Amino acid sequence: MLEVTDLMYTYGRGDGAHMVLDGISLQVARGELVAIVGPSGCGKSTLLRCIAGLQRPARGTITVNGTVVHEVPEGLAVVFQDYSRSLYPWLSVRDNVALPLHRSQPRRAVRRETALRALAAVGLSDTAHHYPWQLSGGMQQRAAIARALACDPVLLLMDEPFGSVDAQTREDLEDLVLGLRRDRGITILLVTHDIDESVYTGDRVVVLTGAPGHIRADLAVQLPEPRDQITTRELPAFVHLRAEVGRLVRGRAGHGRPITSPQHLVTGTGQTSGTPRAFLDSAAQNSEDRC
Ligand code: ADP
Repeated sequence: MLEVTDLMYTYGRGDGAHMVLDGISLQVARGELVAIVGPSGCGKSTLLRCIAGLQRPARGTITVNGTVVHEVPEGLAVVFQDYSRSLYPWLSVRDNVALPLHRSQPRRAVRRETALRALAAVGLSDTAHHYPWQLSGGMQQRAAIARALACDPVLLLMDEPFGSVDAQTREDLEDLVLGLRRDRGITILLVTHDIDESVYTGDRVVVLTGAPGHIRADLAVQLPEPRDQITTRELPAFVHLRAEVGRLVRGRAGHGRPITSPQHLVTGTGQTSGTPRAFLDSAAQNSEDRC
């Protein structure tokens, strides 16, 4: 579904050029939820913007459904962290959700019906005629997710989508996204700085570190489905993997070789699949030099 090959991105030119990403290669299968975690400033948002076709990489290619990305790809939707700036305060919640449909659907009644269905999917049917400022932060972010769903996306990019809400609401939104993925088979890339969230939501956790940012590890999460905020988080496999990801993000990984392909994955149980978990080592050393 999504293939990123040898991506490099640089802000600015000449002496002021600042290379932010280098050598990023990543494959995401249809219906997968891949969480991208890493320290602030390592290029997570830049990577998402390149995949969304909003920024053009200096090197490398991105394909979505086999088509090289030069502009915003068909069937892609993005949810940002800052819901307060992504919803228009003068439009009702329903009209905010219907807004992106103007490009593809000329009939207002159909746009409104689609928006109401998307609002129902995120549990906001009762607020269709409210204005965004009449909703709580969590509800506003649900509305932003509904707006993304209204376009019936095949690929959903989420950039720190739950960073501005309280802990309880955050958990509810994580479960909402997992439910939507399960029901609709949407492929999701979720950028987060929250290590627990990356393990709880992800089928894989991709750890990005360094300057320039590069993939330090690509870890399979083998936790039972459906996930549960209480029972999943107390599983030894969860505790082990969050510690592993935490070490990687902080530059304290074990010994091994750098990851080269998604087949070389550490499992969530701390056991190995394919190759020994030791693949992490030289990437870790590189990263420590670069961080
Ligand atoms: P992250 O999402 O991991 O926090 P970003 O992708 O936002 O990282 O930023 C990566 C680096 O690129 C940071 O050093 C940031 O300062 C820089 N950067 C981001 N946007 C711009 C921009 N528009 N112009 C110049 N530098 C930028």
